[in-house]
Amino acid sequence: MKAFKDKSVLVIGGSRGIGAAIVRRFVADGAQVAFTYAGSPEAAKRLASETGSTAFSTDSADRDAVIARVRDSGPLDVLVVNSGVALFGDALDQDPDAVDRLFRINVHAPYHASVEAARQMPTGGRIIVIGSVNGDRMPIPGMASYALSKSALQGMARGLARDFGPRGITINIVQPGPIDTDANPENGPMKDLMHSFMAIKRHGRAEEVAGMVAWLAGSEASFVTGAMHTIDGAFGA
Ligand code: NDP
Repeated sequence: MKAFKDKSVLVIGGSRGIGAAIVRRFVADGAQVAFTYAGSPEAAKRLASETGSTAFSTDSADRDAVIARVRDSGPLDVLVVNSGVALFGDALDQDPDAVDRLFRINVHAPYHASVEAARQMPTGGRIIVIGSVNGDRMPIPGMASYALSKSALQGMARGLARDFGPRGITINIVQPGPIDTDANPENGPMKDLMHSFMAIKRHGRAEEVAGMVAWLAGSEASFVTGAMHTIDGAFGA
């Protein structure tokens, strides 16, 4: 039998990249999958029709919209919060509104989505948030707001694990290193610098991250919570 047969899964930010691989993985494993998107309606429509999943336009920067989407999804077996953005460049030059928007997408949305999901989640529910190895290690300048946002998820998981444990719900952070997506293409200008930090000198694949997410969402991970799970070719080692 398929591992997630008839399980209800919501992926926040699933139209492209790692999120789309997570959608495909849960669909392949038998789940009923819905996902949100904001800027890529065509990609979302294509993914939904290819996989039989359901796409909802929901901006992760809009707290009330995120909460409503999770609430209206009903009792979820698995929530994955994947949407994330990065800002590059000297902190002294960055637009404070852009920095605050990053925090809304990367920090506020995961927190509010997780809390809202836990209201209706059954025992055995799983929450998985996509962080980054940059929550542990930031070896280059110009990405402080991103690193801050991904470190914040670590405290969130530790704290919410305490709140959700008695309800039988786990919450974990997956921390990828460089993964070949639109946001970080393997053939981009940073390739050699990034690979110089790594023991496995290639970008990871979105499907490899989806595999870790599926394991955390499955029955074998029932005792795993409040923890960070790094998948980075030893970028942060
Ligand atoms: P992509 O830019 O390739 O895809 C981002 C996904 O998030 C898209 O589906 C996008 O949807 C969605 N998204 C972004 N902003 C919003 C928003 N405001 N509302 C709703 N959805 C949104 O990124 P990746 O796949 O590379 O990254 C996914 C996650 O993995 C992020 O959290 C990122 O920080 C993290 N990560 C990625 C790494 C990498 O090297 N690729 C390394 C470490 C962590 P749409 O286009 O429809 O808005």
